[in-house]
Amino acid sequence: MDNLAPYYHAIGKEIEVFEQAYKSRLPFLLKGPTGTGKSRFIEYMAHTLNKELITISCHEETSSTDLIGRYIIKGAETIWLDGPLTTAVKKGAIIYLDEIAEARPDVIVAIHSLTDHRRELFIDKLGQTIKAHENFALVASFNPGYQRGFKELKPSTRQRFVAISFDYPKPDVEAKIIESETGVDISLAKKLVNIATKIRNLTELGLTETVSTRLLVDAAKLIHGGLPKRLSVHVAIVEPLTDDIEIISALKDLCDLMI
Ligand code: ADP
Repeated sequence: MDNLAPYYHAIGKEIEVFEQAYKSRLPFLLKGPTGTGKSRFIEYMAHTLNKELITISCHEETSSTDLIGRYIIKGAETIWLDGPLTTAVKKGAIIYLDEIAEARPDVIVAIHSLTDHRRELFIDKLGQTIKAHENFALVASFNPGYQRGFKELKPSTRQRFVAISFDYPKPDVEAKIIESETGVDISLAKKLVNIATKIRNLTELGLTETVSTRLLVDAAKLIHGGLPKRLSVHVAIVEPLTDDIEIISALKDLCDLMI
């Protein structure tokens, strides 16, 4: 490939682990809260391994038909259209099922035979079973449900994957990521990380999700673009976190003191 690799800063041994897992075509699960670099990691790995990446953002309406394919009517004809999973299985792409636990249960059923030694996909509407291309690999992400509102993944499904946990990077690494992603200077990046660390420790606020690296990158982009610092932090970090007016006001005071 001639295009540049996406920027990814390794947090632990995830690159080595993924390379080994891919060699054996083991299904791979990226666990962790939103905005911790899971999608970026798989983009980076696909690029490094020189494989096509097909990403599906799963939501509660995502069904096996969306993934496998459907008949569509074109003029007077009915034609079959492969879904993204079938395409990946045939072409030997890496399929990334982002937030797999959100999808309908029939999606989990559909991938079963792809996640064990069979490596095949059953297309029920065509009555066909297709063998996966040798380069095909299945990767999924999952946001562990220790907070309210997230769906669980059954143990029988989880045990089909090699899994690795993603979390917020150490402060100096996170500052480096913000600097590299946005071009702000490192001292500002560190201030943003300090704000994040402070808010992440305020567990008593009961936030469903706390400040992710993504939010810090967004704030840094706004600041780099010329928006005032406090306003940037407010709209990119505080407002996305909660709709509770009192918490917003408390966080605003805290952030204003820190930047
Ligand atoms: P997730 O898929 O876990 O929700 P993303 O991969 O979309 O999160 O990450 C959100 C943003 O955070 C990315 O666009 C990138 O700017 C930044 N980011 C987070 N972790 C990293 C990392 N380790 N290396 C590079 N960028 C990162």
